Amino acid sequence: MADGLDRMWAGWRGEYVAGIGEAPVGGCPLCGAIDPTGPQAGWIIHRGELATVILNAFPYNNGHLLVLVNRHVAGLDAVTEEEAAELWRLVRTAHRAILAAYEPDGANIGANLGTAAGAGVPDHLHLHVLPRWAADTSFVTSVAGMRVLPETLDSAAARLRAAWPADTDADTDTDTDADIAAGTPGEAEGP
Ligand SMILES: [Zn+2]
Repeated sequence: MADGLDRMWAGWRGEYVAGIGEAPVGGCPLCGAIDPTGPQAGWIIHRGELATVILNAFPYNNGHLLVLVNRHVAGLDAVTEEEAAELWRLVRTAHRAILAAYEPDGANIGANLGTAAGAGVPDHLHLHVLPRWAADTSFVTSVAGMRVLPETLDSAAARLRAAWPADTDADTDTDTDADIAAGTPGEAEGP
């Protein structure tokens, strides 16, 4: 999501960006990110038959999720009715998980279609679901144009998996039990 903000990252960013370079399948970073055998599989929150929920590698806030169709297609008209239905169902479930995990004041849900609209990966349809807090236009953001994200992606993944509703389909198998056991979701904090 292009927002004009630089971000203040912790040390894990370099590690993740290094991983991105090895991951893309057919050159698409989102195809790489949803590969359950790929290096970013730890940040898959839920993988469905037709669509998948992952952590955004370039989050605007802690808990910033992407919901995308599993096929490499662009545009709303490129997906089947079944894919569109699963995409929207997972958007709603992702929102529920974010509410449970972070107790935010609000949420942004949307899509950037095309590079001109701010899409980082315009060729692979994805929707953003992210928590918002009344105070997340912080002093640092306003004054310095920077955003501080204190939570690591691993911590966010553990927190969101723990909050993922149990009544959705059980076809997620990303071999993440160890990650969940290692995570310490703890109490919801602010951004
Ligand atoms: Zn793709």
